[in-house]
Amino acid sequence: MNRPFNFSAGPAAIPEEVLRQAAAEMLDWHGSGMGVMEMSHRGKEFIAIYEQAEADLRELLAVPPEFRILFMQGGGVAENAIVPMNLSRAATVDFVVTGAWSQKSRKEALKYAAEVHTAASGEDSHFTSIPDPASWQLSRGASYVHLCSNETIHGVEFHELPDLRALGSDAPLVVDFSSNVASRPVDWSRVGLAFGGAQKNLGPAGLTLVVVREDLLGHALPICPSAFDYAIVAEHRSMYNTPPTWGIYIAGLTFQWLLRQREGEATGIAAMERRNIAKAERLYGYIDQSQFYVNQVAPHCRSRMNIPFLLRDEARNDAFLAGARERGLLQLKGHKSVGGMRASLYNAMPMEGVEALIAYMREFEQHHA
Ligand code: PMP
Repeated sequence: MNRPFNFSAGPAAIPEEVLRQAAAEMLDWHGSGMGVMEMSHRGKEFIAIYEQAEADLRELLAVPPEFRILFMQGGGVAENAIVPMNLSRAATVDFVVTGAWSQKSRKEALKYAAEVHTAASGEDSHFTSIPDPASWQLSRGASYVHLCSNETIHGVEFHELPDLRALGSDAPLVVDFSSNVASRPVDWSRVGLAFGGAQKNLGPAGLTLVVVREDLLGHALPICPSAFDYAIVAEHRSMYNTPPTWGIYIAGLTFQWLLRQREGEATGIAAMERRNIAKAERLYGYIDQSQFYVNQVAPHCRSRMNIPFLLRDEARNDAFLAGARERGLLQLKGHKSVGGMRASLYNAMPMEGVEALIAYMREFEQHHA
């Protein structure tokens, strides 16, 4: 069976090998007589799944030993509250606002942080560009600096995380990497905490990944719920409450799939990154040479994961989407705040999917130009 190509921004396509393995193990995991959803999270079977997933993720993302890996629930939106409840102490929190998601994070932090300061904003450019880090107005003594490494809606991505020390701030950097986690390596020397929902590059919705430097644990505000206190979650190895067991299992299968990937000399995340660069360059290249489609994001910060594009004649949007569906190109409708189309090219999207999309875009252009 040839499955359609699914361009959803999330929940998004999962590698077919992972889905097939999960299907094969659905009724009986490794001869245990149980499916993973039916297992006690404290039983030896699930503990084995958990430990493997954690170890594989550490290897995959090269997470240094001084960072803890937490598997939580609540998604990125809950982390917008959980992060300030854990890290804001009584100090100012700095925000770098580069699109809808960092804007939302900033708004939520207003409820918990003593003071919220916007260090930089791309709003003047309608979030088509990331302000140069040299222009950021970072606060003295901030408890942390928040940014979103890939804005899923506006399609802007940091191709390098800022070195806050070089910019005069000694605050830890908090990164929302929901929509580009595992698509490229992470420079952990620049990060204090990174969080992301699983439903784009890691697995099903319901699992939230948090990677946090140990020295940031133990500073939660008294109002922080115990299940969301990073120190408590870390102490109990994500088992203070029942963790999202199915999500951890599927993410674990995805980590193994990622570790198996090869692209020339590169393996794992490095292989994925090469592939993601090639896919994105191919699609941007096609859009840029066309008179019919347009992407408005500044080249230095174009997302490899989420590529929004407009038809110059918006009246053709519905016809474009209907034709795409007929050809097995699914979920291309753009977010309502930006309009037009959005092609999300997460890890599970092969180059063939990008080629099929471009072939369709060309055909549509020829018919309607
Ligand atoms: N941050 C980013 C960058 C996202 O793309 C999303 C979801 N699209 C979220 C946060 C929110 O995630 P959730 O809906 O899982 O809470």
